[in-house]
Amino acid sequence: MKKAVILMSGGLDSLVAAGFTQDEYEISLALTFDYGQKALDNEIKSATAICDYYSIPHRTIKLDWLKEISQTALVNKDKQLPVSDLGTEESAKAVWIPNRNGLFLNIAAAFADSYGYDYILYGANKDEGETFSDNTEEFRRQVTKVFETSTQVKPKVVAPLINYTKDDIVRIAIECNMPLGLVWSCYKSGKYHCGECESCRHLKNALKANHREDIIVFEK
Ligand SMILES: [Zn+2]
Repeated sequence: MKKAVILMSGGLDSLVAAGFTQDEYEISLALTFDYGQKALDNEIKSATAICDYYSIPHRTIKLDWLKEISQTALVNKDKQLPVSDLGTEESAKAVWIPNRNGLFLNIAAAFADSYGYDYILYGANKDEGETFSDNTEEFRRQVTKVFETSTQVKPKVVAPLINYTKDDIVRIAIECNMPLGLVWSCYKSGKYHCGECESCRHLKNALKANHREDIIVFEK
């Protein structure tokens, strides 16, 4: 088995990235990042539950300073999360965290370099790749290239969902009996998914496309 570390936010994509690769990779560590995001408590709870389900050792990494330099609605309590059209440049800007995936993958690469993991898994996917440049195949390839010189272990970044849409990802989760009810994909914290933020609406649409809206409770 190939040894890997995985980026684990506790959302749909990280669940399916972990579940989908179970046969091929021994996931030795999952990393969740605390950058003061509004959904932090729920994300940690979901990430812990998903890691328990797959028996993956889990660790939360604090990045307090990232909150300080981020102006976006994901962390800033004074700013409302956008409820505008899905996938617009404006809505993407409103939730952009500076160099987030670049940072997270570099931190994962430090763990990989220390513990000898040859692979770093993350849940980049086709839908988000259209809006966010750090979810694209080009980014995945280039960051892997950087690790060839910035580490000794030279871990390869693997994005198992990069060719799949959210609809496909939910379909895979259902077909493979993954514990979809454990995920937290909402940009906010709370008892239930808000149903209004961009992430909730993507998840809701994908569940609807698969005729399984019953799996997750939305407030609206
Ligand atoms: Zn939401």
